[in-house]
Amino acid sequence: MSLREARLGYREHVVSVPHLYAAARKFALQRASRVPGLGPRLVEVALKRRYGSHVITPLKVRNFIQAHHDEESKAVVVDSAPYHLNLDLYNVCNLRCRFCPTGTDQLDRERKRFTAAKAKQVIDAVKDYVIVFSPFQWGEPLLIPETYEVIRYAHDAGMYTSMHSNFSVKVKDLGRKLVESRLDTLLVSVDGLEQGVHETYRRNVNNDFIFANVRELVAARKKLGSKTPRIELALLVFRHNEHDVPLLEQKRKELGVDAFVTRKAVIYEESWIPEGKAFQPLTELFTGTCSFLYQDLNIEADGGVSPCCINTSRRWDVGRVEDLTDLKAFWNNPKHQAMRAYFAGFHREGQAAEASPSDQPLLCHSCDWVSDCRAHADLGKLSPLPPSFAAESMTLNHGIAPKLLPVLQGNDSAGCVKIERSLAGLKCDVCRALDRPQDLG
Ligand code: SF4
Repeated sequence: MSLREARLGYREHVVSVPHLYAAARKFALQRASRVPGLGPRLVEVALKRRYGSHVITPLKVRNFIQAHHDEESKAVVVDSAPYHLNLDLYNVCNLRCRFCPTGTDQLDRERKRFTAAKAKQVIDAVKDYVIVFSPFQWGEPLLIPETYEVIRYAHDAGMYTSMHSNFSVKVKDLGRKLVESRLDTLLVSVDGLEQGVHETYRRNVNNDFIFANVRELVAARKKLGSKTPRIELALLVFRHNEHDVPLLEQKRKELGVDAFVTRKAVIYEESWIPEGKAFQPLTELFTGTCSFLYQDLNIEADGGVSPCCINTSRRWDVGRVEDLTDLKAFWNNPKHQAMRAYFAGFHREGQAAEASPSDQPLLCHSCDWVSDCRAHADLGKLSPLPPSFAAESMTLNHGIAPKLLPVLQGNDSAGCVKIERSLAGLKCDVCRALDRPQDLG
C-alpha cells in the first residue's frame, strides 16, 4: 500500500463517534445558535462549561457565533475576530523530532524569543475576543522563564490557557511555577513508554526527566490545593509505538494524571504509518473551507503573523504583530480576504473582488487539509501532501495547478510551494530551482 493509498483509505472509515460528535457540534453552532434568545444562551452555557465563567463574556459569545456563521457562509470579509491565539514565545526546541521543521532545521524564520512585555501587548490587543490562548508553536515553551508570566497574564486577562510541552527539560520548581501560572491544560508528549521507543521519533528526548516532571507537577497541584493544570499524556502514534497505547494508559494511572490521549500524526514515510485503523495519519481537517481562516490567530516568534499553524516560512506571512492595533481591520486585510476568497470560489458578489487568489500564490493553494474544495477542484490540486512540514523522504512527484504554473515559471523559485518543501537536495519539477543538499542529521 502506498502512502497515497493509505491516505485515501483513511477516508473510508472517517465516520466515527468523534466525527459524529464534531458534525453535531458544528450543526448546533451554525444552525441552532440562530434561534433567537435560546440559541446564543445555549452556546454561552456550553462555552462556560468548557472554558469557565471567568473566560466567557457576552461579547465573546456573540463573536464566537458570528465566526461560525462567517465560516458557514464562506464570508471573505468577516464581521468576527479570531478567538484562538497561538503565540510562539520561542521558536527553538531541545529535541530533533523527525517530521518537525524545527527539529530538522527547516523553519524558514530567524530564531527569536518574545519578551514578556511584547507578549502582554499582544494579549491586550486581542483579549476582548480570544477564548483560548496557547503560548507555543514551533518551540519548547519551557525553555524560557517568560512563559509562566505570560500564561498568568493571559489567565488574568480572561483567557483559557493551554500548552503542549515535551517536558524533557530540567526546570527548578517546575511544578510550582506551572500551578502558579494558572495554566488550565498541559499536554505532555510521551511517544513511548521506554526511552528507546520514544527517541525513535523524538530525538534527544529524556524519559526520566519527563516522568520526574510529571510526578513533581502532580505533587505541586496537591500541595497547593489546585486542580489545574489538567494534565494529559499524549502519544503521537506511529507504527513503532502503537503497541504502547495500553502501556501508557497504565502509566497514566500510576502517575495520577488526568487523561491519556492518542494523536494522529502527519507522516511522510510509509514505514511509519501505524497499522491500527484508528491511528491512521492525519489527512483532511475541514470541509469546503478552512476553519483556521475564521478562528485562529497565529503569531510567530519573529513577529510575523501566519495564516495558520502549519506555516513554516515567513514567505507566507499575512502581516506583522504591529498590525494588531486594529484586530478586526487586520483580520480583513487583503491577504486574509484572498485566502478566504480562494475557498469561496474566488468571487462572491459584493465581496472583495480584488481578492483574487490567482494573482499570487497562497499557502492555501497547496493545502490538503480542506476536503470538498471547489477551488482545488477547479485549479487542480498542487500536492497530495499537506504543505510545509518537512521530512527527509518527501518527494515531488505531484501535479501542478495550471493557473499557477505561469506564476511559478515567471518567478523562478519565488512563491513556489514545492520549493518550500524541497529538502535534501530534491528539485522542484516545475521551476527546477533547488539544488541544495542539506544535512538533516
Ligand atoms: S494553508 Fe491550509 S490549513 Fe493553512 S490556512 Fe490555508 S487552507 Fe487553512
